[in-house]
Amino acid sequence: MNLEAGNVCSVRLAVGETVRITNGPGDQVIDTWAFNANDPTEFMGMEHCRAWWLKLRPEVGDSFVTNRHNPLLKMVADTSAGEHDTVIACCNPDRYRVLGAEEGHANCQENLHRELSEQGMASAVTPCPLNLWMNIPSVGSNGLGREVPTKKPGSYVELEALAPALVVFSACPMDLLPINGVDGPKDGVRVEVI
Ligand SMILES: [Zn+2]
Repeated sequence: MNLEAGNVCSVRLAVGETVRITNGPGDQVIDTWAFNANDPTEFMGMEHCRAWWLKLRPEVGDSFVTNRHNPLLKMVADTSAGEHDTVIACCNPDRYRVLGAEEGHANCQENLHRELSEQGMASAVTPCPLNLWMNIPSVGSNGLGREVPTKKPGSYVELEALAPALVVFSACPMDLLPINGVDGPKDGVRVEVI
């Protein structure tokens, strides 16, 4: 399926199934969450993953664990420059309010919960997402940068399910900061179970 900028979609994966997310010109950040398909109180936790990885960004071969430290997904391919962020919270209404946007700005948090509802699920929390193609480099010994995505048109990431999962993708609508490129979000991505 095609996921347009600002929109949300999800896929259900059985064990061993893989979803491929293919970017367009390389400027669109995709906020990605994964939940235990049978229990949404268990979800992929970036802070839990980093406890195992001891690094900021995932690489091919790395597994993603849940808030209960059970393996849920595995990155099995990545043809991008690997600039995926695991640190920054998803955009939400308050983020846009403080940045001065008009009320009602599309945001990833509401996208997530709307998609969960459409899938008959709910979560009391908004986990920190895996921000695919979001370029937050580490700087010096204790800094983070905020850069535009590294353009690599058509690059893709593949995530394999290690347990039954509902994976949610929000094509981030952020247009007040240049995380989606200086022109803002404009290009969708392709999401397919392969
Ligand atoms: Zn967002």
